[in-house]
Parts: sequence; structure tokens; C-alpha cells
Amino acid sequence: MIRTHIIPCKLKREDADALNLESGRIYTGVLVAHWRVVRKKQIWLAEKSGTRISDSLVEAPLHAHTIDAAQQGFYKACATAKTLKRVDPGARYPHWTKKFRTTVWKNTAIKFKQGELELSNGAHNPKIAITLPVELLGVLRFLEVRLVYDKKARHYQWHIVVENGIQPKIAAGNNVVSVDLGEIHPAVVGDENESTLILCRERRHEAQGHAKRLAKITQALSRKTKGSRRHKRLIRAKSRMKAQHKRVTHDMEHKVSRAIVNVAVERQANTIAMGNIKEIADGVALGKKTNQKISGWNHGKIRKLVEYKAEAEGIAVVLVNEAYTSQTCPNCGSRHKPKGRVYRCPSCRFQGHRDTVGQVNILSAFKFGAAGKIPVPQTTKHRLPFDIRLKRRRPDTGQSQDCSS
Ligand SMILES: [Zn+2]
Repeated sequence: MIRTHIIPCKLKREDADALNLESGRIYTGVLVAHWRVVRKKQIWLAEKSGTRISDSLVEAPLHAHTIDAAQQGFYKACATAKTLKRVDPGARYPHWTKKFRTTVWKNTAIKFKQGELELSNGAHNPKIAITLPVELLGVLRFLEVRLVYDKKARHYQWHIVVENGIQPKIAAGNNVVSVDLGEIHPAVVGDENESTLILCRERRHEAQGHAKRLAKITQALSRKTKGSRRHKRLIRAKSRMKAQHKRVTHDMEHKVSRAIVNVAVERQANTIAMGNIKEIADGVALGKKTNQKISGWNHGKIRKLVEYKAEAEGIAVVLVNEAYTSQTCPNCGSRHKPKGRVYRCPSCRFQGHRDTVGQVNILSAFKFGAAGKIPVPQTTKHRLPFDIRLKRRRPDTGQSQDCSS
């Protein structure tokens, strides 16, 4: 299986900066060359021609394929914008120049030697050595190494993509479970017989607390002179806070997606059906900001994590059209927009948890192509994947506790 490992980067700050500065310069070179031709000649350059034009400008202390990667980055971003434009006509092609960009070493620039990775920066430039942690010593192949700057934590990390040689498990059965990602509850998972609500109140708590703390610090910042010692200190405190929030959120997203996959394994599923682009399908596009206010759940991220974890269990993830899955009554099939957390059907008086209705309707959409063909499961269970008591526990300082009293 292909897996990405994140390990700390021990390069000197200025060396790491120099590398990503170079990558940024190459990316910007292609971008500028491309748009110049478009502007002057009204021709959309193909990737090959675009990179060829900017190649003549490039002389970087990087591996040839690392340079390629930075150039391809621009055309990849173009392709993404093109796909996005189909759903959102306001989406723009990449047009901002970049000072820094993540540097990428492809497998041709990576060598594994006695517990170390050796990254090549071209024949005449010094190589970079990365000491690997134990878990990476036995992997089959190293596919890619990226030098990523974590903006919130303000430091560099290595992202190492490997083929670990481990075969994914084979799914125990051929059941199908469906997942409805919600706002208040992160997810509901289940099949026709049993539905499991995955709860994580801490997320909301964390999101609100973070917003409050952020507002406080922003207010304090506005009273300080820019560039002053106190201003700088507050800026540092702000990014420390953001980094911590990111870690907590990341942890919750991992645990929620782990819980989803665990339920799928317990229900002996080989397929997970997930809803796709809820906002657009349901016609209730709340806008980014409102969505964030409600919960701050990043559905795209959870979807990705579920796919990642499901793969290891031999479970396929299928995206299904979410159209009307939150509106259709699973009892009689009529449609109406639910208000609040409980779905009440005005036609047949059916009542059920809104998210469970969504879950069973996604299953119905997967199996029968439309919502409302499967009744709500008999049993509902709850699961708490994130234990707040663990978070509140004293941090492990590595020192033994004082027990003399
Ligand atoms: Zn009904």
C-alpha cells in the first residue's frame, strides 16, 4: 500500500528555505511564461511547450526531476481548476506567483543507504541525508519525498511517500454500509439493520473555544504597534495557538474516520457508500463561512481519511449522489425539508433522527439509485471515538510523579 509518513525535518532553516524558494521560483517561471503567451498570442500552451519555454530560464541547484515537479505543479493546478470550473464557474486558473513552494524529490532522486535516505540535488550540488525512523526501515520502495512547511507550526517537515509492501486485508463479507457526514454529529454509519451515530461534541467545543481565543488575541494585536516586541510576541502566540488547534482537529478527524471504518469492519462490509457534495446536491449552499460556524467539520478531509483507512481493510469507498437524501422520507418516499435535528414526515407521520434518515437514504441511493427505498434501521447505537478525559489528562513530561506525600 502507498502511505505517507511525516517526520520532523532537521535541515537548517536557511537551507530548507533556500530549497523551497528555488521551487517557488521555478513554479513562478512557468506560470509567468504561460500567461505571457496566452496574453500576447492568445494561445493556451500545452504542458510540454510551457515547460520547454521556462526550461531555458531555469538553472536551479535541484535534481532535474525536482525541477520537473515544480513545473508540473502549475499544470496540475490548471487541471484542478478546469475540473472545479464545471461545478463552480467562478473558479480561477492559478495566477498567483509563489515565493515558496514545497520541493519534491521523485524516486529517481532518492537513494536508500544504511538507514538513511539520500536526496540528490543534481550532480554538482551537495546531497541531503535524512535519518529514517525505525518504522520506515523495512519499506519496499520510496516513491517521493516532499519538504513541507507547516505554516501554523512554523517549521518544516518531511513527507515521505512509500510503498510499504503490506498487502491490504481482504474484507470479511460483502455487506454495504453507508455514511452520512453531518454538522452536529460528525457521522452516521450503518446498513439496513443497524445504524451507529458517531458523536464528537468536543469538536464544537474546540471550534468555539478556538474562535474565542483567536478573537481575543486579534483584539490585543490591534492595540500594539506593528513590528514592536509585544506585537511579535503576540503573533508567535497566535500561530502557536493555531498549530495546537490544528493538531487537536487533525486528531479528531482521524479518530472519527477510524470509527467509521471500524463500524464497516464490524458490519462485515466490503463497500462504504458515502455522499458526495452535499451542499450542491441539496440546494442548501450555506456558504463556506456559515458551514464553518455550525461545526467546522471538514467533510472532504474525513472522506479522504476514510478512503485511506478503508483501503487497508480491503473495503472500497464509493461516492454516491446525495440528491434528496436528507429530504426524502424513508417510510413513504415523499419529500420535504426537515427542520431541526428530527425528521418529521408531514405525509405519513414518520419520525426519525435526521442523520439516520440521511444514512439510510444514501444506502438506498447506492443500492436502488434513489432515496426513500429502504426503511430506517431498527437499532441505533452510539459511539464516542474521542475521549475528552484523555485530552484533559496531564501531559506526560517524561518525569516520574512526586509520590512522597
Ligand atoms: Zn413519510
